Amino acid sequence: MRIDRLETINLQYEYAEGFSYAGGHCTGRVTSLVLVHTDDGQVGIGSVYSHPVLVHLIVQHQLAPLLIGKDPTDVESIWDLMYKITRWYGRKGVAMSALGAIDVACWDLRGKAAGKPVWSLLGGESGTCAAYASALLWNDVESLATEAAGLIDQGFRRVKMRLGRDPQYDLAAVQAVRQAIGDNNDLLVDGSMRYDLETARHFGHQLAEQNIFWFEEPFQPEDLDSYAALRGTIDVPLAAGENEFGSQGFRELLRANTLDIVQPDASRCGGITEVQRVAEMAQQHGVRFATHSWSDAVAIIANAHVVSAHNHGITVEIDRTGNPFVDDLLVEPITVGDGCLQLSDAPGLGIELNEEVIQQYRSQDPLAIPDGAYSDMVFGPQHYAPAPPFGSEG
Ligand SMILES: [Mg+2]
Repeated sequence: MRIDRLETINLQYEYAEGFSYAGGHCTGRVTSLVLVHTDDGQVGIGSVYSHPVLVHLIVQHQLAPLLIGKDPTDVESIWDLMYKITRWYGRKGVAMSALGAIDVACWDLRGKAAGKPVWSLLGGESGTCAAYASALLWNDVESLATEAAGLIDQGFRRVKMRLGRDPQYDLAAVQAVRQAIGDNNDLLVDGSMRYDLETARHFGHQLAEQNIFWFEEPFQPEDLDSYAALRGTIDVPLAAGENEFGSQGFRELLRANTLDIVQPDASRCGGITEVQRVAEMAQQHGVRFATHSWSDAVAIIANAHVVSAHNHGITVEIDRTGNPFVDDLLVEPITVGDGCLQLSDAPGLGIELNEEVIQQYRSQDPLAIPDGAYSDMVFGPQHYAPAPPFGSEG
């Protein structure tokens, strides 16, 4: 089996209304698929959540010429080759994310060639892993309670909400959602990088009273000192890592004793190969991991294969905000029952893409993105409207 060509597919969706959160007002979503086609007619599926135009350029103009003719099942050699050729401008950010998409597609092909699911190749026994509903944005407290109860009705046993709006709202929102889901379900909170150390410590004590499962990203990802200072002083596990790339980045987080839970994402940090390396490194530090996903179903599934293969892999994130790339992209949509996601026993990632959905949302020009605020990436100055400073809303 040899690589014949790489295909990049940028997907773009516009919300009718969108949603508000710490990033401002989100008007749409983007993600990119990378398909690895082989000379014997196989297709490996990967995805990447980064700047779509840059993904296309890096994959098509630098990585594809290098990889054509190579054996895609030699996954680690391919990863090394891609890393070395992009190192000068890569290591963190889009090049690392883009090579990760190819890595995921190669894992899919390795599994297909071996006739085994990826979770089995990674040493897993069942392909089952816990999953949580990621939603509960900056809405009024009553509607958050209704939404949270609805997520539990859908089969989730763990939900994550967005905070960092202002201290009064944050506490009221947490109390309302806790009451709505009851004491037997887990509540996770995302600080949206909006706290300072003193506020986070004070709020952390209030979170402990609500028995919070983890406190995510209270600080900006560069602020390792605040993470290290907060960790262990509150009775809530500290989580972060969606903005980290590569095992070298996670090594820095782990050595600085910043976190109780690391959150790598195969579609951002360097593929299944790199999430696996981060998982092994975390285990050596006595730290658990729980993958981040905010882009598409391929990313969720890729992450779930690694989480399900490790005892210290806690849970995977499932975007429940109404993202068509999560809800509609796969022929067999992701389902959660009694808090768990069950991966397929089929070889590779065990997924099939819905071609109609791809045609519906595919960008015609891979070098253009219409202006909009796509949750994490903003294009066009009229869409750049960050939320007011923490504590100023009341
Ligand atoms: Mg987050």
